[in-house]
Amino acid sequence: MGIPSHVKMIEVGARDGLQNEPGTLPTQTKIEFIDRLSGCGLPVIEAGSFVSPKAIPQMADTDAVVAGITKAPGVSYSVIAFNKKGLERAVAAEVSEIAIGTAASETFSQRNTNCSIIESLERTRVVCAGANEHGIRVRGYVSCVLGCPYEGDVDADVVADMADKMYRMGCHEISLGDTIGVGTPGQAKAMISAVAEKVPLEKLGLHFHDTYGQALANIYAGLELGVATIDSSVAGLGGCPYAPGAAGNVASEDVLYMLEGLGVETGIDFDKLVAAGRFITDALGRQPVSKVALALASKGG
Ligand code: MG
Repeated sequence: MGIPSHVKMIEVGARDGLQNEPGTLPTQTKIEFIDRLSGCGLPVIEAGSFVSPKAIPQMADTDAVVAGITKAPGVSYSVIAFNKKGLERAVAAEVSEIAIGTAASETFSQRNTNCSIIESLERTRVVCAGANEHGIRVRGYVSCVLGCPYEGDVDADVVADMADKMYRMGCHEISLGDTIGVGTPGQAKAMISAVAEKVPLEKLGLHFHDTYGQALANIYAGLELGVATIDSSVAGLGGCPYAPGAAGNVASEDVLYMLEGLGVETGIDFDKLVAAGRFITDALGRQPVSKVALALASKGG
C-alpha cells in the first residue's frame, strides 16, 4: 500500500498539550488558541476534558471554553469524557464528538485511571452506548501501544484485542498512542499490522510522542501501511503526567512539514499553523518543541 494521498490531522494541543503544561491559561486565551487552530483548516480539534478539576485543574474551564469558541463549519471539536458524568457534561455542552481512553498495560491503567483494563473497557461500553443515544461520536484511545513505563514491552496482540473491543462498542475511530514515545518504526509497523487484522485500517489513527526522537519515523511507517489519521500537538505541547520522563506529543508543524514534503494533502495552512504555535508558546512563556518552528524562528521567519 502506498502513502495515502490525503491525511486527516487531529490537533490535540488544546487538550493533551495544555493539560500537561505546568501553568493554567486564562479561558479567553484557550478560546483564541482554538479559534486560531480552526482557522488553520484543521478538521478535528480536541478542545478540552470533562474530567474532575481536582484531577486535571488545567481543564476545569472546558465547559466555558467549548461555549466560547467560534464553531467553524466542518470542524469537529472533541472533548475527553471518561465516564457518565463526563458524558452528561458533553451532552450539556452540545459537543458532537467525545474521546475516551484505555491503556494496553494493566499497571498504567491502574495508575492513570484508577481502574483495571476490564473496568476501563466496561466504562467505555457504558459511555459509548450513552453517547450513541445522543448522536455523539466516540473516539477511542488505546495508550501504551508500544511500551509501558511500568511494564516495559507491550504485546501487539493485547493492543489489537483492545482496539477491536472498543471498535465493536461503537468507537468510530481508534487512536493508537505511544504514550511514552519509546517505539521504533519496525515495532510500530508490527503493532499497526496486528491491529489492522481486527479493525479496518481507515478507522485507525496514530498518536505518537517524540521522547526518543522516533515519532516522525514511526508515523512514516504507519503512512506506508496506509494509515491516514495522525494526532499531533502544535508546538509539541504537553507530555503525560502519568508517564515519567515522557516528552511531548509529536509537533503538528513537524508532521505537516513532512506531509507537505511527501505531497500529501491535509487542507491545513502551514503558515497559520506555525503562527498558532507561536501564539500559544508566547502565552505559556516558553519555546516551541517543534523543530520546524525553531528552524523558521532562527531564520527570522
Ligand atoms: Mg499525547
